[in-house]
Amino acid sequence: MPFRASVLTLYPEMFPGPLGVSLAGRALERGDWSLEARQIRDHGIGRHRTVDDTPAGGSPGMVLRPDVLAEAIDAASAPDDGRPRLLLSPRGRPLDQAQVRDLAAGPGVLLVCGRFEGVDERVIEARRLEEVSIGDYILSGGEMAALVLLDAVVRLLPGVMGNAQSGQTESFENGLLEHPHYTRPTVWEGREIPPVLLSGHHGAVERWRREEAERLTADRRPDLWAKARVTKS
Ligand code: SAH
Repeated sequence: MPFRASVLTLYPEMFPGPLGVSLAGRALERGDWSLEARQIRDHGIGRHRTVDDTPAGGSPGMVLRPDVLAEAIDAASAPDDGRPRLLLSPRGRPLDQAQVRDLAAGPGVLLVCGRFEGVDERVIEARRLEEVSIGDYILSGGEMAALVLLDAVVRLLPGVMGNAQSGQTESFENGLLEHPHYTRPTVWEGREIPPVLLSGHHGAVERWRREEAERLTADRRPDLWAKARVTKS
């Protein structure tokens, strides 16, 4: 069974959006993964299909109703379909490559996109939604975060990336940032490609790449560097 993504959103027209082009888009056409964007408003209340209401306790903005959202979730996924249910949320666990890899190894995912001030807390508990954040900043809705998460996952699915090897050496896969890349021309605006890369010595190239990766990680991401050193020793 190919990887199955269901997205609950008030803006289904945002999907597949950027995931309809390039590698992800071609994989979608081939059926290597599937995507359904479901309109939360289809489960709205009354003639106006209301989905939100004012925050209890008072404060500006609106909150997505738990009854509406629960109905949308229940219609989209049986509790035993094995797919994790994630709520995109700035309060969530920060998304990282390890979680992306876990998701890509599973049957699919159900993604709930918040809007306005967010969603009623009770539906998070009752439907066991796992909150996932894509970074410490506030988006206007969960849709772009869902697209980011799916892009990261889909490129790891079998058959999606042309060059399977490039998935191995990339940033984060070994706890380090990736080494720099160069291509032709050999000299550009007076800048040369590091000679070792043109030496033809595979071992020396590997050593250089490893050292550069370590130098960049120590320099730019002391948090990752500290973890990488613990893992090595
Ligand atoms: N009032 C909330 C922010 C709501 S933003 C707060 O302060 O925490 C509206 C919706 O956008 C959220 O419900 C969530 O689905 C999405 N969103 C915003 N920022 C996000 C982020 N960094 N990661 C994932 N989703 C995010």
